[in-house]
Amino acid sequence: MTNIEIAMMLLRTGEMLEVLGQAYNAFPYYRAAEMIEGLEEDVVGIYRNGRLYDLPGVNMTLANKIEELIQTGKIGQHDELLSSTPKWLLDVLDIPCMDAKKVAIIWQSLNIASIEDLEWAAKKYRLQKLPGFDAKVEINLLRGINLSLTSKAGVLLGIAMPMARKMAYGLLEMPEVERVEWSGSLRRGKEIVGNIDLLVETNTPTLAIKEFLRQFPPLKIIQQTKNKIVVLNKEGIKIEISMLSSHEFIPLLHFTTGSKTYISNLNKYANNERKLEIKEDGLYRTDTDKKFFCETEEEIYDILGLQYIPPELREGHDEINTARENAIPNLINMNDLKGDLHVHSSWSDGAASIEEIAQWAKGKGYKYIGICDHFRTQSSKRKGIRLEDVHHYIEHITHLNERDYDFKILAGLEVEIQKDGELGIGEDMLSLFDFVVGAVHSGFEDGIEAVTNRLIRGCNHPLIDIIAHPTNRIIGRRDIFVNTERLFKAAAETHTVLEVNSYIARVDLPDIYIRQAKSQGIRFAINTDAHIINELLMLEYGVSTARRGWLEPRNVINTMEYEELTHTWKRNRRGELTRQQLQ
Ligand SMILES: [Zn+2]
Ligand SMILES: [Zn+2]
Repeated sequence: MTNIEIAMMLLRTGEMLEVLGQAYNAFPYYRAAEMIEGLEEDVVGIYRNGRLYDLPGVNMTLANKIEELIQTGKIGQHDELLSSTPKWLLDVLDIPCMDAKKVAIIWQSLNIASIEDLEWAAKKYRLQKLPGFDAKVEINLLRGINLSLTSKAGVLLGIAMPMARKMAYGLLEMPEVERVEWSGSLRRGKEIVGNIDLLVETNTPTLAIKEFLRQFPPLKIIQQTKNKIVVLNKEGIKIEISMLSSHEFIPLLHFTTGSKTYISNLNKYANNERKLEIKEDGLYRTDTDKKFFCETEEEIYDILGLQYIPPELREGHDEINTARENAIPNLINMNDLKGDLHVHSSWSDGAASIEEIAQWAKGKGYKYIGICDHFRTQSSKRKGIRLEDVHHYIEHITHLNERDYDFKILAGLEVEIQKDGELGIGEDMLSLFDFVVGAVHSGFEDGIEAVTNRLIRGCNHPLIDIIAHPTNRIIGRRDIFVNTERLFKAAAETHTVLEVNSYIARVDLPDIYIRQAKSQGIRFAINTDAHIINELLMLEYGVSTARRGWLEPRNVINTMEYEELTHTWKRNRRGELTRQQLQ
């Protein structure tokens, strides 16, 4: 047993005492943990020599605990505390901005019983009123909750990507660094990534590692060699950085991007069909051992005699056979999108005004933006547009549109399809909007089929154009909550568009379902569901998910120009759709 392990055990025992309201009893444990962590000599050795009592701050109680730990591998008191401390409180304790004192205050002052309750309290600004808390702690805690809810499986793409980008930009500032790329599941755009893998091209690896550590001081260094460093960053995410020479870069980038199954499938094909082998350091001929030097991934695929397979598809499904048939589709890109069709403004629960959102979107080069605020029914307590606000809301948007002919603001509405299938707003009012988005946000206790029935009612509604976040999943909290087979059938029959919601904890539809829905002729809208301006940037996560779902620009309605787009809405295609359905 190492000193660190002993110190951690004592520290955790002290923390649990403090969380449960015995701060006074906790301090000797903290002091002992800190002292042991700083010791150069091994505590096990000290114990064997009978010198535990010589250590500063170690009284009889503590000496007994340390002895128990060394002999049995555990401390009875620690295990007892563990069984009487709610599990979620320990998860909160592990969030970087938290300590036992703060967790004790949360536990004692707020009447809450889960991490979800805590998140709700933080969103209601209830935490910043507690002693020792402020708005910053509250925001960091919210971030930490998001991380901890997903950390079992990995990190959300929307959290990992900005971190990778920041590190890449930091490294690229060094004159010795030629290029930086992320690889692995992050480059494949998976909704949850295991860790962040960065590949760095440089001739001075030692210097680059030193500079990286200076710019991004980690929580812990896990492994360090001349060309590689593995660290845990301050958010507790594992970062692996490989320093490479220019001829090592592309082979390793290619080798580490595809999933294990993909690389193994590709090697089977290469061996059987081309007498080639793909290794970490390059592409070889199996008969002569000749090595090919490739400067791009496209060259690798050329030599393999295969159509290029984009990173997002390299999962090990049927992509290699598809590439052999030259049938890999022309996947959608960020710049194919002409606008975002699901944005909340301050008319409902969004933070920015419609003008601010439109200005941002125009600045980004969008052609239009779909403002899509919540409808507020008579009985609802959520912020939103009430029946009596509808005319005012639409007039406001019309007025803004009159000022600017190069850019269009679409007046949309997000309606809750209620338990009885009703919307709380009639067709006469709905037809005033440019488009309507139907969704379900509550009532999950009724079960999957009941929720599915509501969404199908939405598809059948003549004025609901898009179903938002169709599976209702929230990563780390709620799994897919819809019968996709029934929903897709209804969406296909009624020409209802399904959303690819880009919000980082939603990413909904997920990739595999996108591909299924695409095969049924369903069309999609890639949206952010942004509630603040910054969240409009999340669109890229929807695009990578759409790429993983094999979507092409023609499958996605917001790649269309404004005139064509408005033609696709159900209300404008009524005659046409009825004719089709009659045939
Ligand atoms: Zn929604
Ligand atoms: Zn929304």
